Amino acid sequence: MSVARFWRETLRRYNLGGSKCTECGKVYFPPRSVCPHCTTHRKTMGRLEPVQLSGEGEVFSYSVVHEAADGFEMQVPYVLALVRMKEGPILTAQLVDVDPKDVAIGMPVKAAFRKLKAEGAGGVIHYGYKFAPVLSPTEKVG
Ligand SMILES: [Zn+2]
Repeated sequence: MSVARFWRETLRRYNLGGSKCTECGKVYFPPRSVCPHCTTHRKTMGRLEPVQLSGEGEVFSYSVVHEAADGFEMQVPYVLALVRMKEGPILTAQLVDVDPKDVAIGMPVKAAFRKLKAEGAGGVIHYGYKFAPVLSPTEKVG
């Protein structure tokens, strides 16, 4: 991937920019150029406009990963979750700042931007979204 493309993608992901169909209101992330819902069911070409996701959502499903993928060796076990955004899209992300045993379906989470992995020694560092639990005031530490 070129540096320019990588940077554009990073900004888009960092901002959680999706797209919203002006016909049916469905929100897509990553953004799409046509709305498959409208194209299939309404026989119209859904027009899509950029939309900013709030970064708020809840755990839809999750699994605890004990076998690390390349670049995640230092982090096992970690929680890989399907997060349902407030706006509707479901995305896959790592949950951070939570003990795997404390994760629950429906737990409110919020996007947190963290270093995902470093490529090679002194290589490109990839940043991206992860999700952390939204703590109620009584649970907040410090
Ligand atoms: Zn649509």
